[in-house]
Amino acid sequence: MNNNILEIKNLSVTYKTKKSILGSPKTVHAVNNVSLDIKKGEILAIAGESGCGKSTLAKAIMKLIETQNGEILLENTNILKLKKREDLKKFYQKVQIIFQNPYSSLNPKMKIGKILKEPLEINTDLSKKEIDTIVEDKIKKVGLDTNCLNLYPHEFSGGQRQRIAIARALILDPEFIIADEPVSALDVSIQAQIINLLKQLKEDANLTFLFISHDLSVIKYLSDRIAIMYLGEIIETGKTEEIFNNPKHPYTKALLSSVPQLDSDKREQIHLEGELPSPENIPSGCKFHTRCPFVMEKCKHENPKDIIFSQTHNCKCFLYN
Ligand code: SF4
Repeated sequence: MNNNILEIKNLSVTYKTKKSILGSPKTVHAVNNVSLDIKKGEILAIAGESGCGKSTLAKAIMKLIETQNGEILLENTNILKLKKREDLKKFYQKVQIIFQNPYSSLNPKMKIGKILKEPLEINTDLSKKEIDTIVEDKIKKVGLDTNCLNLYPHEFSGGQRQRIAIARALILDPEFIIADEPVSALDVSIQAQIINLLKQLKEDANLTFLFISHDLSVIKYLSDRIAIMYLGEIIETGKTEEIFNNPKHPYTKALLSSVPQLDSDKREQIHLEGELPSPENIPSGCKFHTRCPFVMEKCKHENPKDIIFSQTHNCKCFLYN
């Protein structure tokens, strides 16, 4: 029996761009044949540049966008097939998301108390008194006073709003939380507080997190395992120490060497040429070949398969064939 809470199998997400004066709609391959397991109680981080497909993957897991191929199994149930209201309710009780921007994720017209009560009123049969108790408990858990329940979102700072968004994500006692760049819209001085709060909440309730970020120092501090994403594909996965101590894929090495606070002077420096290609024009073969300093002829035509380095560490690159 495996210990996975979520299994993503061969998932693809494509969509069409709008027709514009520059030409006809194009097909964007935002997530490309992704397979990934998330184990109960772990923090799995997905790292990669902006536009690599991390947030699209998060939205697909939350059923916020359409997917084309593949399966997403939550405790062996393919959530992509869930349609009935009752099944969706159960799903959203187990899985919640914290978005990047606490300024847009909270309804400005609702008081905090109402924002937190609403999911309980919709999804449970609890009494008003029971709901009030849960709301007060959750707001205290994220380090805020119960007085804030009578205030509106605009009366709070960015860090406080993100605490409220976290309280809302916790309100139905989910098992699995997706945190999509939860600190990147906040002041640097506040980021550490929110990261420590997430870590504490995870330990208190044995939650499972999918933590999406482009900030490798935050990922190193928080995560148990890391998946590196490039142009819609997972190109390397491993335990945090495997990725940081022994990165294999040239893209992973380049990402790590570009972060100065991570002892980059001791690392092999890989300078990436050019920008991330647009997902409308994905290169053939290895998607990284247009920027890879080690590119070989076959990289331009063939897609590398997973090479396994340990039970937990693998990467897609012809350098190891
Ligand atoms: Fe570079 Fe080739 Fe490896 Fe791709 S497969 S990362 S282009 S060496």
